[in-house]
Amino acid sequence: MPKFERGLMWFRRDLRLEDNATLVQALRECRRLFCVFVFDTDILSTLPADDRRVAFIDDCITELDAELRAAGGGLIVRHEAAHKAIPDLARSLNADAVFAGRDYEPEAKSRDQRVAAALKLEQRHFLQCKDQAIFEMDEILNGQGEPYKVFTAYKNAWLKALRPTHIEPFINQPPSGTLAPPPAQLTQRPSLNDIGFGHPAHPIPVATGSRGAQGLLADFLPRMDLYHERRDFPAVKGPSYLSVHLRFGTISIRALAREAYPAMQAGSVGAATWLSELIWRDFYFMILHHFPHVAGQAFRPEYDSISWECGPEADKLFRAWCDGITGYPIVDAAMRQLNQTGYMHNRLRMVVASFLTKDLGIDWRRGEQYFARQLNDFDLSANNGGWQWAASTGCDAQPYFRIFNPITQSRKFDAQGHVIRRYVPELAALSSKDIHAPWLAQPTALVHAGITLGVSYPMPIVDHGCARKVTLARYGILKD
Ligand SMILES: Cc1cc2nc3c(=O)[nH]c(=O)nc-3n(C[C@H](O)[C@H](O)[C@H](O)COP(=O)(O)OP(=O)(O)OC[C@H]3O[C@@H](n4cnc5c(N)ncnc54)[C@H](O)[C@@H]3O)c2cc1C
Repeated sequence: MPKFERGLMWFRRDLRLEDNATLVQALRECRRLFCVFVFDTDILSTLPADDRRVAFIDDCITELDAELRAAGGGLIVRHEAAHKAIPDLARSLNADAVFAGRDYEPEAKSRDQRVAAALKLEQRHFLQCKDQAIFEMDEILNGQGEPYKVFTAYKNAWLKALRPTHIEPFINQPPSGTLAPPPAQLTQRPSLNDIGFGHPAHPIPVATGSRGAQGLLADFLPRMDLYHERRDFPAVKGPSYLSVHLRFGTISIRALAREAYPAMQAGSVGAATWLSELIWRDFYFMILHHFPHVAGQAFRPEYDSISWECGPEADKLFRAWCDGITGYPIVDAAMRQLNQTGYMHNRLRMVVASFLTKDLGIDWRRGEQYFARQLNDFDLSANNGGWQWAASTGCDAQPYFRIFNPITQSRKFDAQGHVIRRYVPELAALSSKDIHAPWLAQPTALVHAGITLGVSYPMPIVDHGCARKVTLARYGILKD
């Protein structure tokens, strides 16, 4: 017997019908279920009008709405502050309960607390489900009952705890409630223009919605066994490119684990390595949940006493990093890829994050914020984890004395200079030997390639060798 007569499903980071834990629970517990998506003005007000992600979400909810209609329901779309929109809507629909997938970000948690409190005042329930992680919050703890701070130990415990039921799909089975179409007065859906956004000149370069996600997964699966060999080379089609879909929940994390886990058990090293990346995702959700201070501060508080470069000179260096004009071709290619497409390969994220913090001596939080604005797949937990890893301020971070050499990284991971040629076309005519460090090329090679250093392409804005020494001294004071 359903517990509630009328319910409201609030879609957030789970824009799909298939294998949606929250939706299945809501349908099980409500006789009639309305569905809503809120373009939250508290979030949108911080974004530029051509933000790619808003257009991506708009496409995804168009698909979601069509699927809901085909199943007898439909999506109510609001453009308002969510903490107000949800209680108001629950009241006007007379919903007994609101269902939502759990979010681990501090601001989302406080928004959810406000919503829960407002609903409670009117005797309505707010029920959250685990959907975007396989294990969350306290589900994986160490022998002392505390959260893990080291990834490998966490991963081993995660794998040990995993049972088939953890990754089984959530399927709506009878007896269950039915999806209710939006009432006539709530069928009007605001367009992108209505909410102050437009179609970006360069939209997110992957197909949207669940179908887009399924397409990427189908494309990746035949490559999964080779993932460990290919994933570090940005010019090679190695990773899955699914991150934006995981971010908005157009694909279920369980669906991915259902592919990777059995393949790993059958001996695939590629699948094991890919599953490990999915576990990093759970790990960083868990870290953010237990240690919310990481949003803004170093995981290890002593690292907050590092004195980063600041002032006009540092601002100039930061701008050059953002714009991809540092004079280090691999860094510039990566930043231009980010600016043009909203995506950056994981290896390049590590290289540019290391460059900003350890070659330019600039606070990791400035880079983190820039990534948050630019990345299609921006996720506070993974982004913060990645930045604190690179800056050596995080849990299980790389040691501070491990400083990536941008030239060596370039020679190793983009040996033929494919990525550089694509995103820094002014260097395209250089040989694969010279392209990683043009200032070391013979003058004749530069002339031949049509390059005047300092004019058509910048000289390096910093000397890596000198910067390395400064960084060791900067971090060295924390040694004991
Ligand atoms: C400085 C920095 C910032 C980052 N910011 C983000 C971010 O905002 N959002 C984000 O999703 N990832 C972030 N990452 C992790 C990683 O770079 C991306 O997840 C990955 O490049 C996405 O491409 P993919 O989907 O092809 O990944 P694949 O290699 O196919 O991996 C599959 C999935 O595993 C997850 N994953 C992979 N690596 C990591 C990781 N290190 N930590 C957590 N989850 C991971 C992602 O959900 C990814 O889609 C960051 C890494 C660094 C070093």
